[in-house]
Amino acid sequence: MRGYVPSYKLLTPTSLAEALTMLANEPSVWKPFAGGTDLMVLLEAGLLRHLNYINIWPLDELRKVELTEKHIILGALTTYTDVQTNSILRAEFPMLCQAASETGGLAIQNRGTLGGNIVNASPAADSPPALLAYDADIELASTTGSRWVSYHGFHTGYKQMQMAQNELLTRIRLPRQTSKCLHYYRKVGTRKAQAISKVCLAAIGSKEGQLVSDLRIAFGSVAPIVIRCISTENALRGKALEASTMELARASVMKEITPIDDIRSTAAYRLRVATNLLVDFLNDLQRF
Ligand SMILES: Cc1cc2nc3c(=O)[nH]c(=O)nc-3n(C[C@H](O)[C@H](O)[C@H](O)COP(=O)(O)OP(=O)(O)OC[C@H]3O[C@@H](n4cnc5c(N)ncnc54)[C@H](O)[C@@H]3O)c2cc1C
Repeated sequence: MRGYVPSYKLLTPTSLAEALTMLANEPSVWKPFAGGTDLMVLLEAGLLRHLNYINIWPLDELRKVELTEKHIILGALTTYTDVQTNSILRAEFPMLCQAASETGGLAIQNRGTLGGNIVNASPAADSPPALLAYDADIELASTTGSRWVSYHGFHTGYKQMQMAQNELLTRIRLPRQTSKCLHYYRKVGTRKAQAISKVCLAAIGSKEGQLVSDLRIAFGSVAPIVIRCISTENALRGKALEASTMELARASVMKEITPIDDIRSTAAYRLRVATNLLVDFLNDLQRF
């Protein structure tokens, strides 16, 4: 049954500083409300336990896109539509654009934000694998200052993350791609659109001659958090992409991921598809 709307409070600060002050003064009382696309689902289902929200949607400070020689920096309120229409992201970060284009439908893409996707912390979210593969950093701000942390390591367990209650996620920083890499993104769901992923792989790779020189591999929906497969990356670096390497990749990734049975899929299916996607990526890298 729908939550009883009059029992909720939603206040709109006029600036980022005011939002941070509200969080600093009463840290466990207020929670940010960005696009609301995750929060409203909980409200409709009568599962929205937290009562007091700060409406950060109008804060233009959180909507800026900055470009430097080395980075593109996206405000936390960057929507999926913003991602898809940004020419630098389309040219240099195609996996993030693809993830955005496969997230929900148009209404969700206009309203859902990258910051909300990260802090909602679903292991099945579609942008986080791309952000991990692109080695993103995120900025967390409070009244005492701001800090950049690596996105890899931010999620520590199911819906657990290294963010204090008085902090807001303010920006996402992506190192610009300098070398020629293969970008591989595949979301496998029940349908081609409007589906939550059963398995999602975002991977980036390059070669020196015939040998793998660099790669980053990130999966969604196969563990309690979105994960980088660091051991598999290390096992593959410097290898030729021949049949034995493909077997090594399968064996290594099976040790790193821990898929489960749930309403969307089975652990066995997820394991099979995850290893198949990885080999598909490596085959593409071999031809690259
Ligand atoms: C029909 C439908 C389809 C969907 N399809 C997909 C899909 O295909 N793939 C996918 O990944 N997701 C999907 N989603 C989920 C959702 O749209 C995304 O997770 C979205 O990015 C959430 O962003 P938001 O701004 O709406 O977050 P909100 O709902 O506003 O907030 C989500 C959580 O993040 C916190 N939060 C938000 N912004 C900040 C911030 N800047 N700092 C700190 N905390 C913050 C909030 O307090 C809340 O806990 C779908 C949702 C719906 C309703």
